[in-house]
Amino acid sequence: MSIWLLKPAELTLKGENRKSFEKTLKQNLARMLSGAGVNAKIIPTDGRLYVHGADNEAEAVENVLSHLIGISGWAKTTVCDKTVEAVIRACVEEGKKIFAAGARTFKIDARRTDKSFPAGSYELCCMGGDAVTAGIDGLKVKIHNPDDVIRIEIREKAYIYSGAKKGLGGLPVGSAGRGLLLLSGGIDSPVAGFLMASRGMGIDAVHFHAYPYTSQEAKQKVIRLAEITGSYCMGIRLYVINFTPVQMRIKEKAPPPWTTVILRMAMMEAAEKAAAKIKSKCLITGESLSQVASQTIENLTCTQSRIKLPVLRPLIGLSKEKIIREAERIGTYKISIEPYEDCCTLFTPVHPVLHGDPKEANLIYESLELDALIDEALAKYEMVKCR
Ligand code: ATP
Ligand code: MG
Repeated sequence: MSIWLLKPAELTLKGENRKSFEKTLKQNLARMLSGAGVNAKIIPTDGRLYVHGADNEAEAVENVLSHLIGISGWAKTTVCDKTVEAVIRACVEEGKKIFAAGARTFKIDARRTDKSFPAGSYELCCMGGDAVTAGIDGLKVKIHNPDDVIRIEIREKAYIYSGAKKGLGGLPVGSAGRGLLLLSGGIDSPVAGFLMASRGMGIDAVHFHAYPYTSQEAKQKVIRLAEITGSYCMGIRLYVINFTPVQMRIKEKAPPPWTTVILRMAMMEAAEKAAAKIKSKCLITGESLSQVASQTIENLTCTQSRIKLPVLRPLIGLSKEKIIREAERIGTYKISIEPYEDCCTLFTPVHPVLHGDPKEANLIYESLELDALIDEALAKYEMVKCR
């Protein structure tokens, strides 16, 4: 059997809510493990979670842990008798492991929450360090930037581990309501969904396509993006809407410089109606200030001017470079850059309006009589469950 130790993230900051966060985190972990077909036991103790699983399921467990929002770190750990001798012996064993894995320098980090344990954390570090260097030729103590850290935690039991992995951090998904993500096939919107999920928000998504002007592959690409994003946020229900009639009306009747802004307004209006049906509390987009013509502050104002729901834009102040780095980290980037055309690019004007006036935008919008077309489009939605 293997044991993993998980450190919840940010939970120390949230005094009163801490219990409910921990409960949500545990539920999410249980659902993700069972979704991965892993039969593991989760044991919460003060300030930590432990996963007990079969050795042959280690890979699946670690894949789940690397997708779990709400933990700052995790490691596979050894449990030993709560005596100084046993702890020091376990340190030497851990030293052998890291040496075999290539480490040549290390340090010991000890934490003792059980104050009745006869050695303090500083003493444990010294004794452990001496024993490891004495026992393994070629492994040396280095306090700054060692190759690995052997950690000792004296709690209700004694835990010894190394090779701790960084977790995704954030607050457990489901602790902060639900939001509806406007998901395109681009780089930005999956990252926006992930960032809001990292603040505890459950995510549903809506995608507008323009079949047959866009291909089935373009739609499949969005489904794959929703699947990856969903792997961090307990799954995503993706509502796929054919927006072709709405887009055609805009293309035919709106002044060409306005087509993108008017289309965004129509998407917002449709998304708000969808959000009301599924009880989402806000909309989420991948917009970032001034990234493209439709995302100047004036045009963003036009875009949201017809709706009441809050529009969350977690990327608003991020450079494209930072967004790409995040997309690479969560694994959506490679898919996002596949070259399937998006409905918006097909209808992009040559000289778009840069600083639209909301009054003018709304006059144009109303002259197009889009409401019935939007309602018809919404009525024919397709829902894909992405896990
Ligand atoms: P990305 O598409 O990754 O967001 P982008 O720079 O191409 O990046 P835009 O195309 O300007 O962004 O779109 C701005 C935002 O509008 C998107 O982040 C997304 O939230 C929403 N959006 C755009 N196109 C669609 C679509 N077809 N379906 C749903 N939402 C969309
Ligand atoms: Mg886009």
